[in-house]
Amino acid sequence: MICLFMTIFANIFQTAWTGVNERTFVAVKPDGVQRRLVGLILNRFEQKGFKLVGLKLMQASEGLLKDHYIELREKPFYEHLIRYMSSGPVVAMVWQGFNVVKMARKMLGETNPADSLPGTIRGDFCVDVSRNVVHGSDSIQSARREILLWFRQDELICWDESAEPWIYE
Ligand code: ADP
Repeated sequence: MICLFMTIFANIFQTAWTGVNERTFVAVKPDGVQRRLVGLILNRFEQKGFKLVGLKLMQASEGLLKDHYIELREKPFYEHLIRYMSSGPVVAMVWQGFNVVKMARKMLGETNPADSLPGTIRGDFCVDVSRNVVHGSDSIQSARREILLWFRQDELICWDESAEPWIYE
């Protein structure tokens, strides 16, 4: 009940999803799914201490992908990107935790795998910028927009995490 209230409140007031309730959108792209990297990527976020609140395997429609990447519509690789992202199923996820947007981006590495340090997902598991296996929201505002785009409210689960006192002081 508190959770439902929080979600409704958060959709009206952006500041509600802050602190340990901050959320980000992460997706394993079609190449990551084909290459059997889903479990590994999930594992990294779990091991870090973030809380999974949404998860689904889906074939994203062209419309959804065009909305998702709307800011890149003038880029020369835009059409190619939409084709790549629709070439197979993706695993869409929402992760929650303190500073999750910023830390998830660090865990992903740079857009171009060649600039990504070993130890990051893109640094460890890919070589080509147009096959970079994973997406992560680049700001709190993008996270909010992307979560609303990819997930219905009732697909996001609020649950009590027993390990929380071992993750946060
Ligand atoms: P990020 O995914 O790191 O936030 P962008 O939002 O800039 O990066 O780009 C979105 C996606 O578009 C990238 O993850 C990558 O799949 C693709 N992309 C970015 N730059 C290029 C490029 N120069 N050539 C081909 N694909 C690209």
